[in-house]
Formats: sequence, structure tokens, C-alpha cells
Amino acid sequence: MENLENLIEDWCEKNKTWHFEGERGLIQLRKLFKTLDPNYESIEDFLYDNPGAMEAIVEWVRSINLREWKEALGVGKCIHCQEVLDSSYHLDRDGEKVCEECYDERME
Ligand SMILES: [Zn+2]
Repeated sequence: MENLENLIEDWCEKNKTWHFEGERGLIQLRKLFKTLDPNYESIEDFLYDNPGAMEAIVEWVRSINLREWKEALGVGKCIHCQEVLDSSYHLDRDGEKVCEECYDERME
């Protein structure tokens, strides 16, 4: 029996899907999932059934290191160097949030 990788490749070939991107990518992805299991009416149905796929998405978000997303998740920026802060920030003498590096530099 063919392995899944080859079968997916054949599916993509037959469905003229060279990459998954934009609206067509979503339509093709939905079509692929529905082919895998007719019960998958939506991408959410697929994700619900496949926690590994959800983990892979979060892992991807983690790996891309996008500044806007860092800012959205962070607790603000260092007042000195504008670095996006995570929960390990410090407060300087004026009570302003600063990163570890700037804190060490200024508190010596
Ligand atoms: Zn700083």
C-alpha cells in the first residue's frame, strides 16, 4: 500500500493544488479534510479530532517570532530599549517597566 505522503501528493496533483494559500488554499484544505473523512465539514472539525494539528499550529505561531504578535502577547515595551517585555520584566526606580538587560545596566 502507498504511504500517506505519496497519496497526499497524488491528491494535490489531481486537485491542482501546488500550495495552500489564501481563499483557494482554504477551499482546497477543506476539500482535502473532507476527502480524509466525510464527517469533516470544516477545518474546525478536523482540528477538533486532531490535537496534534492544533499543537502544530501553535508551534508554528511560536516559531515565527512576529513582532506584532509579541506585542499583542507581551506586557509592554522596555522604556529604554523598546524591547517587547514578557512577564520577567523589572521595575526601575521610577516604577517604569524595563528589560533585564537595561535593569542590570542602570541599577549598578
Ligand atoms: Zn531594555
